[in-house]
Amino acid sequence: MADEIQAKAPDAGASSGQSGQSGESRPSGGGGGYQGNRPAGAPRPAGGPGGRGKFFRRKKVCKFCTEKIDAIPYRDVRLLQGFVAERGKIVPRRLTGVCTTHQRRLTRAIKQARNIALLAFAARH
Ligand SMILES: [Zn+2]
Repeated sequence: MADEIQAKAPDAGASSGQSGQSGESRPSGGGGGYQGNRPAGAPRPAGGPGGRGKFFRRKKVCKFCTEKIDAIPYRDVRLLQGFVAERGKIVPRRLTGVCTTHQRRLTRAIKQARNIALLAFAARH
């Protein structure tokens, strides 16, 4: 008798709606090595990422303070994802407007969520 190990897929985050991506095909230069296949004379597009300014910074009031959330629920993926960038990084406080106390709790919550695989550590290439 052979045991069958069934891989359980977590429910949360199954539908990652990436809205706002307007057909931007970008060569993924991560993982594999460059094989030098591209023709010479094609310089790298300098300028870096142009998609800045996704986080509006109008209200600089801590969301958790206004809603009186004391302990940040690490199971609330929807909530946490609002404070994690697309790449999986935690958005700095000055962009989100979260106060220091809550940013710390938020960081802990995000890390906990990562550990139980609710959030990604980094974006997949
Ligand atoms: Zn706060």
